[in-house]
Amino acid sequence: MSVAAAGESIWVLGIIAWYVIRFPFERRAKRVRVVSSRRSGSEAVGLASALVGLAVIPGFYVATRIPRGLDHPSHVWAVIVGAIVFFSAMWVFRRTHKELGRNWSITLEIREKHKLISGGPYAFVRHPMYTSFMLMGIGQAFLIPNWFAGLAGLLGFAILFFLRVDKEERMMLEIFGAEYGDYMQKTKRLIPYLY
Ligand code: SAH
Repeated sequence: MSVAAAGESIWVLGIIAWYVIRFPFERRAKRVRVVSSRRSGSEAVGLASALVGLAVIPGFYVATRIPRGLDHPSHVWAVIVGAIVFFSAMWVFRRTHKELGRNWSITLEIREKHKLISGGPYAFVRHPMYTSFMLMGIGQAFLIPNWFAGLAGLLGFAILFFLRVDKEERMMLEIFGAEYGDYMQKTKRLIPYLY
């Protein structure tokens, strides 16, 4: 197997892991009533961008090699770095789901008996699930040896994050008031100690 094929296979395994982690939460979430929803056009654009950048474009590239003209050489070190970063992302992704539990939603929603979570990964940053998407995007850039398909994930993540984060924090402040305000004082958004 070539180095490039190894990197792409690791990416495919990572995406399967992503779905295995997420699937049970999607099923369970259907059973918890939503009491307030902020679904909007920009939410739909953000979610679609993340899906296209992190899954559709790289998946299409792995299947078809399009756009071949933007391929670049792949290196063993890049595949190793990419694998470590991608699987760290899956570990964080799993931890955030365990911690959010019944409070999780794919979009901006407040569920019945919603609790503010501030433990586990939420003790370091307010948006550790988005941290995991960012790490997935970085892992993808190292694993997929194509400028377009490799970098599409980070772009898709950035569109989702910047369209959503202010609205999400405003919604949390509205619902949880000072409790969320205090929590904001103690945490960064995305990268522990930095941002
Ligand atoms: N931004 C978080 C959560 C993503 S899931 C993260 O990146 O980890 C999105 C939903 O999670 C939102 O609709 C909101 O209802 C809920 N949420 C976000 N932060 C939360 C927190 N600290 N405690 C409980 N629910 C939270």
